[in-house]
Amino acid sequence: MLNIVIFGAPGSGKGTQSERIVEKYGVTHISTGDVLRAEIKKGTELGQTAQGYIEQGQLIPDSLMINILGCVLDSIKESKGVIFDGFPRTIPQAEALDKLLAERGQKVTVMIDLEVPEQILIARLINRGKQTGRADDNEETIKKRLQVYHTQTYPLIEWYKEKNKHYAVKGYGELDDILTDICAIIDTAQK
Ligand code: AMP
Repeated sequence: MLNIVIFGAPGSGKGTQSERIVEKYGVTHISTGDVLRAEIKKGTELGQTAQGYIEQGQLIPDSLMINILGCVLDSIKESKGVIFDGFPRTIPQAEALDKLLAERGQKVTVMIDLEVPEQILIARLINRGKQTGRADDNEETIKKRLQVYHTQTYPLIEWYKEKNKHYAVKGYGELDDILTDICAIIDTAQK
């Protein structure tokens, strides 16, 4: 089983590269952001709760997010593995992911950290906001999300480094070059 954590700041290209990794390795894509946006669209109670946090650029509380991830994992029937996109975002979430996978006799194979300079992140997010109308891709919320990333999510780099699972990739330039670097890491980790 291949369990890949694709990591990076908002706008680092996690979703874009996840799609390509799914195509190449046949793993299941779990994007917690997509899961939450689908709940908002459906108008569920969970969606309503999530909407407030997302619009403020804040993280959904860990206990709620961990529950959601557990449900999503339970819903996967047969799979070659998973690419986790947008989860974990805090150390308690990373600990919970290890536990959820251990309960299923699995573990995180690698954590791939897409490194992108902040100026490029902001430009990409503003551009995405214009193209898709995504509610949290406006300048004010982008700033908050980047702040949240630095304080709550960035410490995960050290956490995965300590476990020898952290691999950094240059996350800007040609999309194909980024994918090549990611695949080299996955292929080595799989051996
Ligand atoms: P994303 O699409 O991954 O950029 O996520 C969009 C928003 O959904 C984030 O800014 C958070 O408000 C929320 N979100 C997504 N994943 C998580 C997570 N693992 N923990 C907490 N909040 C999350």
